[in-house]
Amino acid sequence: MQKIICLPKFFLPLFVILIVLLGVSCSRQAPVYHQQILSFGTLIDVKFWGVDEKSGRRAANAITEDFEYMHFAWHAWNPGPLSRINELLPSGNAFTVAPSVMPLIQQAKTLSQQSQGKFNPAIGHLIHLWGFASDDAPKGPPPAAKDIDALLAKNPTMADIELQGIQIRSNNSAVRLDFGGFAKGYGVDKVIDHLRELGIKNAVVNAGGDLRAIGRHGERPWRIGIRNPRGEGILASVDVADDESVFTSGDYERFFEYEGVRYYHIIDPETGYPARGATSVTVFHQKAAQADAAATALFVAGPEEWYDIAKSMGVKGVLLIDTRGTVHMTPNLKSRIHFTVEPLPKIIYSMPL
Ligand code: ADP
Ligand code: MG
Repeated sequence: MQKIICLPKFFLPLFVILIVLLGVSCSRQAPVYHQQILSFGTLIDVKFWGVDEKSGRRAANAITEDFEYMHFAWHAWNPGPLSRINELLPSGNAFTVAPSVMPLIQQAKTLSQQSQGKFNPAIGHLIHLWGFASDDAPKGPPPAAKDIDALLAKNPTMADIELQGIQIRSNNSAVRLDFGGFAKGYGVDKVIDHLRELGIKNAVVNAGGDLRAIGRHGERPWRIGIRNPRGEGILASVDVADDESVFTSGDYERFFEYEGVRYYHIIDPETGYPARGATSVTVFHQKAAQADAAATALFVAGPEEWYDIAKSMGVKGVLLIDTRGTVHMTPNLKSRIHFTVEPLPKIIYSMPL
């Protein structure tokens, strides 16, 4: 016998509403496209929200190519456009610069001046002398004091670089360019521009812990971790959204230990030695190039001077950890940063920037 099912009148509209709601919640869970790229000497983690697999792959492949070329063009010691500039600069003659390097030189001049010389990409010879301009990690010993002093006496700075049109020259034969302090940030800015051109509105490009995030992860901001400079894992998590870069410079990235002392790759251009006072500095800024350069500069400035340099560089958000483990922080980060370590570190809030 056939059963006759009688549905109440209101069932159909309810059913329709249910289907619509299900549809909405499914589209809310649009998958995050995730890809890892090995380039720029680091693992670059890329996430896009709200794009389909095909567009995600296409965009990730496009920026992989970008990273590869930028890595080649701006490499501080491998043969390429930048190493050619470094070979020709000591002659004192003017010569034509590869257009791929020109914008970095221009921006490095500005950033160096704003940082009052703490960020100084003209000290390539010092970085080389310390052994950090090499694929192999240096083992020490530190260079001889007289070699460091000889370079300091020549005082190479970005102001020694003269640009005319697409030509470059320098009066100071001790200038050697090393953009290791901000090329990654500059590159991240370029790929974010490219992603936007490809129609991607929500993305995080995270190059070994340094990142720029645009848009959101659906309903919520992107959540990222700030690495713990001592010990494994993360120190804190923070939400970033809408367009923000978070860059960290630390004494744990590249270093060697010699006779119980740690020597690392961030050099104070005034002393010629690794900058003392900070173990890590995280900078929040819209543009990645500025955030990267500022993180290096504020690391050099250390716990006493970082505030003044941040001010002159136009940076608003800073988290510096000194060698005692004390956190120095701008108050605007207070409500955003969630420390994940126990016990909580001692925090000193600065004046707002
Ligand atoms: P990371 O290794 O995380 O990218 P940084 O952004 O601080 O760290 O960059 C460190 C690199 O910057 C060094 O390897 C060197 O190439 C360069 N560098 C070191 N000291 C300075 C400085 N005072 N100014 C500009 N660049 C520097
Ligand atoms: Mg940097």
